[in-house]
Formats: sequence, structure tokens, C-alpha cells
Amino acid sequence: MNDVIAIDGPGGAGKSTIAGLLAEELGYLHLDTGAMYRAVTLAALEKNIGFNDNEALTKVAENLNIDFNQKGEIFIDGRNVSQEIRSQEVNAHVSETAAIKEVREIMVKKQKKIAEENKVVMDGRDITTVVLPDAEYKFYLTASLEERAKRRYDEMKAKNIEVDIKGIKKNIKNRDQKDSQRAYSPLKKADDAVLIDSTNLSIEEVIKKIKEIIQHKS
Ligand code: C5P
Repeated sequence: MNDVIAIDGPGGAGKSTIAGLLAEELGYLHLDTGAMYRAVTLAALEKNIGFNDNEALTKVAENLNIDFNQKGEIFIDGRNVSQEIRSQEVNAHVSETAAIKEVREIMVKKQKKIAEENKVVMDGRDITTVVLPDAEYKFYLTASLEERAKRRYDEMKAKNIEVDIKGIKKNIKNRDQKDSQRAYSPLKKADDAVLIDSTNLSIEEVIKKIKEIIQHKS
């Protein structure tokens, strides 16, 4: 599958930032699939749906009208929810939403369709393994837990959002655990994905590495 770059990895590894910049440079669309699971979670919170009610959560996913614009902003029924989907409440529940098989099936179908119709850089947890296993370029981007928590902390601070680094670290660790231990499409490195550990690399260095691999292969 040409014209598709698939990137997976744990929370806070810089996937979305890297995927966004890479897409911009290549003139590809960027699809942050985590934002889709976050949007379902936000809609469920707004409807007061319990996170053990799989049937109701599946309905929310089914009926959700999600859109993205060129800037990577996400909309539910035309409402820009790019900030709200990053809230602590969404952080706390998104892995529960994403563990539901039926919710995943709905999202994966949308993601596959987008990849069929566009040149795309897609990032998430199951892109290289389930959504686009035939993508020509597959990467698994990771970094140490400490470094990932620090990056999230710096990001929030820069936006003047009050957070404590311990809480961030705990949330990332919890999500890592839930995401890699769930029954359906758990987070794991595909055998043929290139592993990049960005603990000691800058964003530019990671992008350079990815571009070198892509150019070398094509
Ligand atoms: O990438 P991000 O941290 O925003 O993802 C939020 C959550 O969405 C993850 O912790 C995971 O539970 C879920 N997710 C997923 N599959 C994807 C992308 C995200 O299960 N492809």
C-alpha cells in the first residue's frame, strides 16, 4: 500500500506531532486516530453514559459525526472540540472506550476509508497491525515513560494549563497498561515496523530518521 505512512506507539511518544509535521512536509493528510477515540469519549461524557455500558458507547460511536480540517482540528457535529478532547476527564476514560470491540470496528472502518481515498500519515495504537497492516512504511515510535511524561507536562505548561507531572505520569502509565493488555487490537510493535526510540532525539531528528528510511526504501 503506497502513499501511506503508519505510526504506532504509546501515549506521549510524540506520534501526533511527528505525524503532523511529516504530513505537512509531504503534502499528505494527517489522521490522528487517538483524537477519534477521544471524541467518542467526550461525547459519552457529555451524555452521561457510563463507561461500562458498551452498548450505549457503541451507539455514540455509530452516531458521531466527526470531521477534521487541514489544520488537524477535530469537530463533532461542526463543533470544534480540539481542546476539550485533551481534558483530564477524557484522558481518564479514553482507554475504556477504545477497549470496546464494536467501537473499534466503527473507527477502523472510517480510518481505512480515509486511507483508501487520501495520501495519509496515520498515527495511533493499531495502525501498523490492524488498520493498515499493508502500509509500505511502518514505524513504532516510543520513548521512556519519564521523558514522555516530561514532554506532556511541558506541553500543558506552555498552554498555561495547571498540571502536576506525577498525575500525568500515572495517567500515561495506566493507559499504556490498558492499551497493551486489552483483548482487541492491543498496542504492540508490528514485526515489520521500524522501532524509533526518541528518548534522546529531538522532533527534527526523528523526522529526519523517518524521511531517510522512506527515501531509502522508495
Ligand atoms: O494517541 P492518544 O494518546 O491521543 O490516544 C488516546 C487513546 O486512544 C489511547 O490511550 C488508546 O486507548 C486509544 N487509541 C486506540 N487506538 C488508536 C489510537 C488511540 O486504542 N489507533
